[in-house]
Amino acid sequence: MTAVTFPNRLKLASLPTPLTRLTRFELINSDTRVWVKHDEMTGTEISGNKIRKLEFIFAEAEAHGCRTIITCGGIQSNHCRATAVMAARLGYRAHLILRGEKPTIMEGNLLMDYLAGALIDYLPQEQWSTHTDLGQRLVEAYASRGEKALFVPIGASDEIGLWGYIAACYELREDFRQHNLQPDYIVCATGSGGTQGGLIVGTELFDLPSKVVAFNVCDNATYFDRKIRDDVTRWNQRYKMNVDVGELSVTTVEGYVGPGYGIARPVVFELITELARTEGLFLDPVYTGKAFYGLLSELAKRDDGALAGARDVVFIHTGGLFGVFPQQSNFDFTQ
Ligand SMILES: *Cc1c(COP(=O)(O)O)cnc(C)c1O
Repeated sequence: MTAVTFPNRLKLASLPTPLTRLTRFELINSDTRVWVKHDEMTGTEISGNKIRKLEFIFAEAEAHGCRTIITCGGIQSNHCRATAVMAARLGYRAHLILRGEKPTIMEGNLLMDYLAGALIDYLPQEQWSTHTDLGQRLVEAYASRGEKALFVPIGASDEIGLWGYIAACYELREDFRQHNLQPDYIVCATGSGGTQGGLIVGTELFDLPSKVVAFNVCDNATYFDRKIRDDVTRWNQRYKMNVDVGELSVTTVEGYVGPGYGIARPVVFELITELARTEGLFLDPVYTGKAFYGLLSELAKRDDGALAGARDVVFIHTGGLFGVFPQQSNFDFTQ
């Protein structure tokens, strides 16, 4: 195990989260044991994976005397919601740049953004490629008023946020020890790459026996390969680490995005319903539902799948519950 000095970190999330095994949900055509790392329990209003990254991001903001966090994402961004809530708790201002037009109904994560008092700018889809420029302009506008603001990229996936899931691997190491477990795979959904990237680096630094397999919910495998290697390169430089970026194995399994980002096929909604009924476990249609559907589909392929030879698989439940509510009309309760 590599000796790792973590940078400053605020204690914001409820950690460690539990690791439990699914026992009632029936896996078709497989005797693999599926475990769930419950990062949907990192806190109620701040739930999900983003708060692990924000522990390091808010520490960075504090160190630089920033009292405003500017960040960006979709209208139903879990990351923006966790940032908005955490900002309210710590006495910061959250300034969000959300993709699309201002909706007429404030629901799910967006409702929480407004409740937590975030300032919100909407940037239409056609102009979204300029969102980083807008973020920089806002930072400058705050600076001209003598206020320091920190711009945080989508999903807090940068060299600072990467620490979130590196630290989570340290936690998993202890979980595995307690359960006497050697999981073959750690599975997650990937959207901005920071969770997947942190898990890849963390499993390497802390000698976890598991291979990280991610299911993309947008973009494609090539995108995540490049994004993660770029983030790890910057992380190496900034923290004087020397993880071999060329040797990293980045495994992103394509084929489960469905019709598009945030839009799921009926099978995903059926799976969400089934897991809620059999295990009381709530997945979401944007991230975890698609990734868990991918996990099951790959297991069903046995040795031809991305999870070949799996005896124990750990699924990282990255949260997303508030994103279920705006999609209620897609559930079918007639059968
Ligand atoms: C953001 C998010 C992800 C994806 O994590 P990234 O680090 O952005 O790749 C997965 N699940 C949920 C619920 C999320 O909000």
